[in-house]
Amino acid sequence: MKTIFEKSNGTDGINLTDEKINLDFLPQEFLRTKELGLPQVSELEVMRHYKELSDMNFCIEKGFYPLGSCTMKYNPKVNEFLASLEGFNIHPNVDEDMAQGSLKLMYNLQKELLEITGMDAITLQPSAGAHGEMTGMMIIKKYFDTIDQKRTKVIIPDSAHGTNPASAKMAGFDIVEIKSNANGQVDLDALKAVLNEDVAAIMLTNPNTLGIFEEQVEEISKLMHANGSLLYYDGANFNAIMGYTNPKKMGFDVVHLNLHKTFSTPHGGGGPGAGPVAVVDKLKEFLPVPIVEFDGKKYFKKYDLKYSIGNVKSFYGNFSVLVKAYAYILMLGKNLKNASENAVLNANYLKEKLKKYYELPYDEPCMHEFVLSGEKQKHESGVSTLNIAKALMDGNTHPPTVYFPLIVHEAIMIEPTESEQKEKLDEFINTMIEIANEAKINPEKILSAPHTTPVKKIDEVTAARHPDLKYTIKEK
Ligand SMILES: *Cc1c(COP(=O)(O)O)cnc(C)c1O
Repeated sequence: MKTIFEKSNGTDGINLTDEKINLDFLPQEFLRTKELGLPQVSELEVMRHYKELSDMNFCIEKGFYPLGSCTMKYNPKVNEFLASLEGFNIHPNVDEDMAQGSLKLMYNLQKELLEITGMDAITLQPSAGAHGEMTGMMIIKKYFDTIDQKRTKVIIPDSAHGTNPASAKMAGFDIVEIKSNANGQVDLDALKAVLNEDVAAIMLTNPNTLGIFEEQVEEISKLMHANGSLLYYDGANFNAIMGYTNPKKMGFDVVHLNLHKTFSTPHGGGGPGAGPVAVVDKLKEFLPVPIVEFDGKKYFKKYDLKYSIGNVKSFYGNFSVLVKAYAYILMLGKNLKNASENAVLNANYLKEKLKKYYELPYDEPCMHEFVLSGEKQKHESGVSTLNIAKALMDGNTHPPTVYFPLIVHEAIMIEPTESEQKEKLDEFINTMIEIANEAKINPEKILSAPHTTPVKKIDEVTAARHPDLKYTIKEK
């Protein structure tokens, strides 16, 4: 049978039984009348095909992955093994009696995350950071509705991740943006100037997206609470402070964590992730349901929360992600704080070594990440941050996050994570220095990068304006 697949050569890759199967019980109109045009290749060729595709991808198992804000730490393979244990592979509607192990795992994970964040109650349901933000904003909205206060505004610093204003808006709030000060932190005067009885909350990331710790966070918390407002903690950068401090101590009321960042579960390509949301005591009745509880004998799902915002995802969220995060937490135990310590150490090492070669707009001690600027290279030789990012791909490195945060021109946001050893960091430093030198003496090489990847330099403008989304087979 002729197929439209270029590798198909008519070889059967499978052995189906010759036995005729009686399909009389199926209504005629549901039966296929024409043969299905599936590709036909041998098992070995299928394996080669998928291996070839996977080799075209970049992953941390292949090289350094300093994608700022995304915490691309190594995901221990034992987590995958544990998440695939047969006992965890159960239907979400199975009786509680038959799911005690899975419920216990979720209960224990809730407890660990509450201890780590210092908060009082938690849901594991949201499936990403942004989803957690929206859940948190919905909780805040319902809280003020319940106490009969009309608060319509949410304050967000200009360094925030784009999901923050999007989530607040989706929950029905208006956004008030405030500028950062010269140290890259919240400008207290700017904050005071917008505070009034319309303000429901502030959304803060700490350390912020510049990798800088908001030193005035306690003062911010006092100001907000004195105004009757709440504080939302975007926990995407939690990897920097884990075990050293927590959002409760800083005065936050609602927090999300990104298990797929801080707690080593795989991400990229859209998930699945998990963005648990933890709250202070006065907000616990607003959480999505169910939450998992223990009565001393039995683990059970609790649905009767007085003001629950309802469900934000079916069942309990992405369960296999929860298993992996729990495994990671148990594996590190009290050493969890070493992960933060080494993440911060690695980032500061890179920052100090690279600041002679690239502009460092905020020259402050950083936390787990820092932001360089490609302005100097752009000005001197026309080599932009995008070109630098592409050139890094030739050095077997995933490009850092670029052009974010928006408040830094030509931003290059670098987050090494704790996973890497000094040798790897030194390799990266050398590659970055080589690129800076090359930009001066031979800019053409950087401008035309990448040279060694499966897909070379692409025309970004045409790709954006006239995307070619149809796959056409090349004639053999
Ligand atoms: C990653 C990130 C988010 C969003 O998290 P997702 O899990 O990608 O939805 C929000 N804020 C910051 C600062 C982030 O880095």
